Amino acid sequence: MMLTRHLKGKSEGKLAKQICKVVLDHFETQYSRELGDAWNTVRDILISPSRWQYAVLLNRFNYPLELEKNLHMRGYHTLFQGSLHYYPKSLKCYLSRTPDRMPSERHKIGNLKKYYLLNAASLLPILALELRDGEKVLDLCAAPGGKSIALLQCAYPGYLHCNEYDSLRLRWLKETLESFIPQPLVDVIKVTELDGREVGDAHPETFDKVLVDAPCSNDRTWLFSSDSQKAAYRIRQRKNLPLLQIQLLRSAVKALRPGGLLVYSTCTLSKAENQDVISEILNSYGNIIPVDIKEMAKTCSQDFTFSFTGQECGLLVIPDKDKAWGPMYVAKLKKSWTV
Ligand code: SAM
Repeated sequence: MMLTRHLKGKSEGKLAKQICKVVLDHFETQYSRELGDAWNTVRDILISPSRWQYAVLLNRFNYPLELEKNLHMRGYHTLFQGSLHYYPKSLKCYLSRTPDRMPSERHKIGNLKKYYLLNAASLLPILALELRDGEKVLDLCAAPGGKSIALLQCAYPGYLHCNEYDSLRLRWLKETLESFIPQPLVDVIKVTELDGREVGDAHPETFDKVLVDAPCSNDRTWLFSSDSQKAAYRIRQRKNLPLLQIQLLRSAVKALRPGGLLVYSTCTLSKAENQDVISEILNSYGNIIPVDIKEMAKTCSQDFTFSFTGQECGLLVIPDKDKAWGPMYVAKLKKSWTV
C-alpha cells in the first residue's frame, strides 16, 4: 500500500513521491527502538522531500566564481566554519539552512560540470579519510561517483582505484568522472567492475586509504520504493546486508597497507549495518584499531545533528529540522603495523 503526500512550496500542486507503507512500518518499529524520541523528528523529515536540503559542492576543475558569489547572496554558507585539523582549502561545499535546491547540471560531452548536488553529510567520510597528494586510494563501492568526485576536490592522489560491481551503475560512475574530472587526472583513475569482496586478495596491502561506502538499506530511497512487492522483498533481504558489509570490510582490510586508514560509511540509521558491523571487525582483527572522530562532531554541530553511537570511532548524522542531512554513519579505523 502506498501513501501519497503533497509537496509544499515551489512544487505545490504536483503529487510528491509515494511513501511505501511497508517500509515505513518496518522502519517505525526498528528505529523507534534504536533512536527513541528522536525517531519522530527523523521520520517527519524523511517522509517530507520538500524539507530535504541539497548542498552544493563546487568543482575545482571548472571553478564557478559567479555561482559562488550568488550562493553567498542567497544565504548559503560553507561547511565546517569551525576549524577541523584536516580541511583542504580546495574543498568548497556550500549549504543553506533552508530547503533550497539548485538545478542539476546536464552532462555535455567535452564540458566539465561546475557543481555537484549532495547530502552534505556525505563529506564526513571524505574528510575522515584525510587524503593527501600522491597517496594510493581505493573507493571500493564507487557508483554513482559522488564520493570519488569529492575525494578529488581534496587532493591529487597518486593513484585512485574506483570499483563498482553493478554494470549499469558502473556506466553512471564513468559518466560522473568524465563530467567532473579533466582528462590528465582521469588517466590516474582505474575503474573496475569487480565484486568488492575480491579486491583485497587481488591487491593485498596496496592502498594508503580505503573507502567502503557500502551497499545498505538506503533509508531515504527505500521509503519511496515505487513497488511495494519489491520493497517487501528488500526488507526480507535486509538481514543479509551486514554479512555483505563485513565481507567488503574484510576485503578492504586486506587491501590496506599497514599504517593506512579505512573509512566505512552507510546512508542508513540501522545499528545492525553500522555499529554492529564495525564492532564485528574490531573484535575479529588484532591489527585494526578505532580512530577517535568525536572532533568532527564537535566542529560541525551547528550544521549536523548526531545520534549517540556508543563508539568513539563512529558518528551517525540524523536528519533534523533545518538540518535535514543524513542519515549517514561514518566509522574510521586504522591498520596498525603490528598484528
Ligand atoms: N560511493 C558512492 C557515491 O558516493 O556515489 C555510493 C555507493 S552506494 C552507497 C553502494 C554501491 O555499492 C552501489 O553502487 C552498489 O551497486 C555497490 N555494490 C553492491 N555490492 C557490491 C559489491 N559486492 N562490490 C562492490 N560494490 C558493490
